[in-house]
Amino acid sequence: MKSVALFGATGSIGGSALDVLERHRDRFRVGVLSAHRNVEALADLCAKHEPDVAIIADRTLRDALAAALRSRGLKTQAEAGGEALEQAAQDSSNDIVIAAIVGAAGLHSTLAAARAGKRLLLANKESAVMAGPLLRAALRKGGGELIPIDSEHNALFQCLPPCCDDFAAHGGVRKLWLTASGGPFRGRTREELQHITPDQACAHPNWRMGRKISVDSATLMNKGLEVIEAQVLFGIDANAIDVVVHPQSMIHSLVEYVDGSFLSQLGQPDMRTAIAHALAWPERIEAGVPRLDPRTLSLQFEAPDEETFRCLALARAALRASGDAPALLNAANEVAVAAFLENSLPFLGIPDVIEAVLNELPSQPVVDVETLLQRDLTARSAAQRIIRERVSG
Ligand code: NDP
Ligand code: MG
Repeated sequence: MKSVALFGATGSIGGSALDVLERHRDRFRVGVLSAHRNVEALADLCAKHEPDVAIIADRTLRDALAAALRSRGLKTQAEAGGEALEQAAQDSSNDIVIAAIVGAAGLHSTLAAARAGKRLLLANKESAVMAGPLLRAALRKGGGELIPIDSEHNALFQCLPPCCDDFAAHGGVRKLWLTASGGPFRGRTREELQHITPDQACAHPNWRMGRKISVDSATLMNKGLEVIEAQVLFGIDANAIDVVVHPQSMIHSLVEYVDGSFLSQLGQPDMRTAIAHALAWPERIEAGVPRLDPRTLSLQFEAPDEETFRCLALARAALRASGDAPALLNAANEVAVAAFLENSLPFLGIPDVIEAVLNELPSQPVVDVETLLQRDLTARSAAQRIIRERVSG
């Protein structure tokens, strides 16, 4: 029986993970559930899954959480704040940590799980993007295993050779191809993107996801973050990672080998496949995903439009600049997306803000978490100032 700590339990990935875990109560028990501010939703999940510990990240809500658990007659212990998350990530009573918090807020708990040598199921791509070198070092030190549950990286994990550390030199890997759906605005011109609303951007054709990643998918920043994530997770040269648009989201990525073979993973656009794979690996378990009839498939592929969707090119530039440029990109993107969701920045303003922040702050080497978080804050203030100047100018 493996005990699972699920961070971001009230979110879209959290819901998919709990659905898979519930199907396998004989193999997994839920040890920890966490949320940010959503006390009632967290307490409801506790009533259903009976974890030992529930953590509310906003520490002012500890008493509210304790009261909500008591009112449901639960024995679950109420904890609050970032330290409680870090503590749970490394606690010896949990074997598996599912990192499904959105944004930079997931960094500390992700690093703590890596340092503690857990099986780390990573959805929180922002932590890999921000702190790639630190995450790799923490994994080496902890000796655990990271299994990606971002669907593209999970597909690559499934298709890469099991043999080696250096896939290009010893595994015959020529290129990683990340597939992208193209998002809700594929095929549109810049003109047509001028008056996009948050609800339009969040209406993804194939996936139901949280609002931040939905906007990232609409701008193609999600694919940009994923290029960086792939470089961090698989240690492959940035030039050997490419993107192909595949609107049906059935092929979740491809590995191209030097002998001309392409291996890909194909399945429904349903995150439960990747989550079930990563939970049970190297075994396979039922995920609850509807079966797919390959006779019904018709698959298309095309090049991404990086001129209209500039975020992908900006992410590639940050990866080339190396050092902490990906962290600055991520911070600027989080601020710009939040401003767009609050209607204080137009859709096409998102790449403008990110580009301005990257131009203003040349990259510096990544030395430690404290310095990185300082730079994250500097990039956030720069992005906020640039957005204010746009409004007043
Ligand atoms: P959601 O917005 O649906 O859920 C986010 C979760 O994180 C919620 O539980 C939320 O709690 C919690 N949270 C938010 N802010 C904080 C904070 N400051 N501190 C602690 N917890 C916080 O996001 P998704 O599930 O869509 O995405 C989660 C992560 O997975 C993201 O990094 C995303 O990029 C990645 N991912 C998601 C996919 C998807 O299909 N959804 C696919 C691939 C990757 P509360 O409810 O209280 O706000
Ligand atoms: Mg993905």
